[in-house]
Amino acid sequence: MLIVANWKAYVNDVDVAKTLTTHAKKISASSDAKIIIAPPSPLLALLSKGNRSKVFFSAQDVSLEDVGAHTGEATATLIKNVGAQYVIVGHSERRANGETVEDVSGKLKSSLIAGLTPILCVGESVRDKEGAYLAMLRGQIVSALKDLSNKERAQVVVAYEPVWAIGKSATSAITPTDLAEMVLYIRKVIAEMVPGTKSARMKILYGGSVEPENASELANGVDGFLIGHASITPELFAGICKAVA
Ligand code: PEP
Repeated sequence: MLIVANWKAYVNDVDVAKTLTTHAKKISASSDAKIIIAPPSPLLALLSKGNRSKVFFSAQDVSLEDVGAHTGEATATLIKNVGAQYVIVGHSERRANGETVEDVSGKLKSSLIAGLTPILCVGESVRDKEGAYLAMLRGQIVSALKDLSNKERAQVVVAYEPVWAIGKSATSAITPTDLAEMVLYIRKVIAEMVPGTKSARMKILYGGSVEPENASELANGVDGFLIGHASITPELFAGICKAVA
């Protein structure tokens, strides 16, 4: 299982960040889960420096730009050079800030060129009875992957994050039955995009109000979780990791 701890902008303090990292490292030492910490970018180099643990690091976003005069941007190459292996791309909170489907596609490309594994976030904002949200989800995946080579597409981790389920509590998350249906649907879409047997090996994560209470029932059928609010509360994070071990 991949467990991605998306700290978002919840952590404002270096000591708190170090404590959370130490805690995650302890959990990973005795767990089969692969823990990936996604801290705010100013903390990335600090936390990943000299990392000899089983924990991996991710950026929460990446620039479309390569090295140059781009004030405020963090390039994929820099993110890789400071010790991250992953990058979250297309999170709904970035899309809500104006990130376009073209941006998402370009960020996947620049991440892969730099040797990072992108975690592509997709998910509907609302569910309608007619099922238009399925076509919308399909469109998000296809537009993100279409400009990549087949080899590049196969390296993308897909995180299904229904926006309506984000930032709430376990009772508001998706049900295991609905999640199983969505994973089947996403597998069908990625099989169309990635010919051959490779798409079956692509990882699909779920994100949206995963907590210790619902982690084990949601874990069936996904390759891991993207965890937001529960990733910065040590007891909740430990509870989720224990539930999926
Ligand atoms: C997220 O925003 O990626 C997320 C999964 O948040 P939460 O766990 O808080 O719902």
